[in-house]
Amino acid sequence: MRTIGLIGGMSWESSSEYYRLINQQVRDRLGPLRSAQLLMHSVDFGPIERAQHEGRWDDAGAILEDAARRLHAGGAECIVLCTNTMHKLAGRIQAATPLPFIHIADPVGAAAARHSLRRVGLLGTAFTMEQGFMKDRLAQRHGLEVLVPEADERAAVHRIIYDELCVGIVDDASRDTYRRVIASLQARGAEAIVLGCTEISLLVKAGDSALPLLDSTALHAAAAVDFALAA
Ligand code: GLU
Repeated sequence: MRTIGLIGGMSWESSSEYYRLINQQVRDRLGPLRSAQLLMHSVDFGPIERAQHEGRWDDAGAILEDAARRLHAGGAECIVLCTNTMHKLAGRIQAATPLPFIHIADPVGAAAARHSLRRVGLLGTAFTMEQGFMKDRLAQRHGLEVLVPEADERAAVHRIIYDELCVGIVDDASRDTYRRVIASLQARGAEAIVLGCTEISLLVKAGDSALPLLDSTALHAAAAVDFALAA
């Protein structure tokens, strides 16, 4: 089994999901007492979040490059960045070590292809919904048309991620907001919803959506397990 290297802490609420999902899948695939070989370098999210919102992406990039190098030095055999948003800096983090970098958009795109989906709605932080780093990869590498919520809906989705989900708050009214946003993406023609933020699955479950959900956390964790068990 190869050793998975996780860059976590963004937020740790979702990193703990990665830890649980990866170990659960190794157990399911290999047997009851089997578990994953992994390293996690978990950062302090506060300075990263401030850098994001102040547009100091270079500062955040330096922290994440350092995290990748530490994982490499510790014996990790791949890099898994446990956040969609920081994939804005994927190229930089990938270049920091010679290790394979498992990009979060790729298992999402592969799942869409398995289900013959063409048009998906994307939920995530404003950075993820409004910038190209996820949408363009899903479109260019995976042939998907990507719809994002309207501006007021994007603001609500973003606020709930940072003010609630990243600090462990799971609120029924916020779940209703997400349900409404999903319904309006469906009305606009989305065939599935990409949960393109690693905390959203803490709030939104399959029963909250008439459309299939492509959960980036679960799909990324499964891709990490595929990598670990391929050798
Ligand atoms: N975990 C989140 C994501 O997947 C948001 C936190 C962050 O800004 O990294 O985008």
